[in-house]
Amino acid sequence: MNIKKFLFDRFISAIITPPLILAFLAYVYSLIKNINWIDALYSIPPIIWIILVLVIVVWVCIVAIRKKMDYTNSGYVAGIPRNGWENVLRKDYFGVKWQVRTPRHDPVFQNPFETNKVPKLNVDSTPRCPKCETKLEISEHLLWHTWECPNCGFKKQTWESNFKIRDRVQNVVDRELEVEVERENSRIRR
Ligand SMILES: [Zn+2]
Repeated sequence: MNIKKFLFDRFISAIITPPLILAFLAYVYSLIKNINWIDALYSIPPIIWIILVLVIVVWVCIVAIRKKMDYTNSGYVAGIPRNGWENVLRKDYFGVKWQVRTPRHDPVFQNPFETNKVPKLNVDSTPRCPKCETKLEISEHLLWHTWECPNCGFKKQTWESNFKIRDRVQNVVDRELEVEVERENSRIRR
């Protein structure tokens, strides 16, 4: 991601460049005034040091937020099944709704040996409005993501990536299905 590389470069330069510039200025100042280099460094007014520290702190915060916002390790891409998706339910999570779906039954290509197959559930990465269930529009800003409903104006600002939350919902749904299957199996055995 370009912004990430850009921030990383700036992050490094924000930490290293100001002290270097100060050291260089102090060196020039010491030559002009014919005083010790260290004395010149000490003669820099405290306000300059405070500003320097503030700049670094602000930048570290920005980089930390950006790191939280980026969610690149998922690599999640849902292929579209041959017959498309069939919606199963909408799950409430993180203050919005998530569409849970399953590949639509394929009468032609169905494997006859897979009769008692556990259904596959998949969570759509686009969250839905908690009020009207319209798909939310996601836009990225420097320090936050905005999830906005084009229909009713619902708006949510968050540092979290929708892909990260999607993966969490997927885990929750997978576990619920697992519990359901285990319960079903124990009933059959009895
Ligand atoms: Zn809405």
